[in-house]
Amino acid sequence: MPLRTAPDDRRWRPAPLIKASVLLHAGAMAATAFSPEIWPWTGGAVVADQALLTLAGLWPRCGLLGPNLKRLPPEAAARNEIAITIDDGPAPAVTPAVLDLLDRYGAKATFFCVGERATHHPELCREIVARGHAVENHSLRHRRDFALLGLRGFSREIEAAQETLAAITGIRPRFFRAPAGLRNPLLDPVLSRLDLRLVSWTRRGFDTRNGDPGSVSARLLQGLNGGDILLLHDGNAARTTGGDAVILIVLPRLLDAIAAAGLRAVTLRSAILFLGSAGPGPGSHEHYAQDRADGSLGFVPRSGAVSGL
Ligand SMILES: [Zn+2]
Repeated sequence: MPLRTAPDDRRWRPAPLIKASVLLHAGAMAATAFSPEIWPWTGGAVVADQALLTLAGLWPRCGLLGPNLKRLPPEAAARNEIAITIDDGPAPAVTPAVLDLLDRYGAKATFFCVGERATHHPELCREIVARGHAVENHSLRHRRDFALLGLRGFSREIEAAQETLAAITGIRPRFFRAPAGLRNPLLDPVLSRLDLRLVSWTRRGFDTRNGDPGSVSARLLQGLNGGDILLLHDGNAARTTGGDAVILIVLPRLLDAIAAAGLRAVTLRSAILFLGSAGPGPGSHEHYAQDRADGSLGFVPRSGAVSGL
């Protein structure tokens, strides 16, 4: 059974802040037309609103511009599930060692891959999936100015990555993470059209610029709990003084702590889109076989698990 049950599920529903901004702009224009002398006040209100929208876009965990997944749903937390997400790959010097570490602990992870990098290393993307992990969308080129793009720019970057990753792995990504977590109000309608859900994180280790495994681990482990979404990087990874990618030192510590806390590392799609323990195992090939077979996810989502994401 497809995940989507109603054709309008993908319709963009503007967040309250977006609706309020549209009303404010329209009201300011009408008021200024009626009483031109009040333009400093109406202009000031519009500028303040624009500043608020910009600030909201610069705050990766902000939900004011639209749905933004920062934690797994309560059902997944109750199952003691936790999501490790690994961005900016695939990276041939790091990703294979990350996969070996995950295997050693029986852990599953979600890899937010960059489309162009996937094109250069398609075999790595397929290996990620073959080992039971998930490949999701982290844009085509990971542009530094991503948050400044408009509707067409967002569409190009995200749709091209979507097609690239689907062609390589045979599975359409269902989640998107914005480069650096930055965005603007025009991102949401594009994600809705492509049936993608925006994901940020509960905690991140800042492991692209911090080469100290101790402080990266401490950040990630602080308050470790079921339902957490943690962010690490295989691409663009900072190096330790010994020259290792930080994730390779941090990951065993994290996986030890996850095991000690009685938690289970699963993919985002396993925790959110699929049946829990009643369905096939998290990240199992049965999931992907269903994905490939009919272009849909093929499993009934847990009641209410998808709404509001
Ligand atoms: Zn990134």
